[in-house]
Amino acid sequence: MTDIRNYSLEELEQLFKDWKASLYHAQQVFSWVYQKEAASFAEMTNLSLDLRKRCKEKFIFQELKLIKMQESTDGTKKFLFGLEDDNLIESVLIPAEGRNTACLSTQVGCKYGCRFCASGLAGFKRNLLAWEIIAQVLEINKHLAKSRVSHIVFMGIGEPLDNYNNVLKAIKIINYHGGLNIGARRITISTSGLIPAIERLSKEGMQIELSISLHASDDKARSQLMPVNKKYPLKELITGCKKYAFVTGRQVTFEYALLKEINSSRQSAENLAKLLKGWNAKVNLLIYNPVKDLPYEPAPGPEVLAFRKLLEDARIPVTIRKPRGKDIDAACGQLRISRKT
Ligand code: SF4
Repeated sequence: MTDIRNYSLEELEQLFKDWKASLYHAQQVFSWVYQKEAASFAEMTNLSLDLRKRCKEKFIFQELKLIKMQESTDGTKKFLFGLEDDNLIESVLIPAEGRNTACLSTQVGCKYGCRFCASGLAGFKRNLLAWEIIAQVLEINKHLAKSRVSHIVFMGIGEPLDNYNNVLKAIKIINYHGGLNIGARRITISTSGLIPAIERLSKEGMQIELSISLHASDDKARSQLMPVNKKYPLKELITGCKKYAFVTGRQVTFEYALLKEINSSRQSAENLAKLLKGWNAKVNLLIYNPVKDLPYEPAPGPEVLAFRKLLEDARIPVTIRKPRGKDIDAACGQLRISRKT
């Protein structure tokens, strides 16, 4: 038995074909699960009793258990979900003018051990299945009165490109018009920079937004902050990102958390400008949300502004992202860690 949301439309159609049922019924099942948010086959009254029975024998509907929900004064909501095996994951809803962005987890823990991130602290346990990724969106939708999740960012716990197949399957279901119908340009994958997976993603024929957690502009500093840089150093990473931008026609975003006395100097800004100048790249400067037990502090305001100005002078699009949900530990992994301590 497997959760119905682990099946792509193609897989469900293949199964129905094997059962000698009409392929159209696979689309009907999709519509019940993702658009009418059905939680049992009994509700699928436009399917024959026999087909409902066969589906019930083959599939289950599992649930994420809501363990805790915190709401920030700025409207950000953070969810701690329990999985069937009692592992915990987090998701965040970030409401803004005209959009509801869901920040999703893709793994339980993370292997990559970036020094500034709470998610790596408890180590890696396992990949999430497609249904566990999609169910985060469905659960968040239950907390939205009149609207639905409109944008997805894979920036929660885990390295999404390290769980490539399940993340891609979830994205295809989220994107499909008969699924959750969220456009590919409204879906962002944030990666620490797994170059072969970035190349594979560029060939999927989808215009998924790519965002790189960069956070340093020379190999020495980046390898210290993000050990993944030893395997995939900056020069090769930037080449891979340029290829992604070329193949997909999408601008690549670089996330850069300005950390006091670590990566916020004028030299760091100049190095960054050199890497990103003249191609389809932009920078999100992040005001770091300090994490308990980690030694980093946000860079002072004047340094942040000087850093931005240098990038602007180099004609690189740059924004400063305000921290959301500061009062509820909204940086990835913080709620899960605080629950365990
Ligand atoms: S920043 Fe991302 S890749 Fe790095 S440890 Fe955190 S979750 Fe993993």
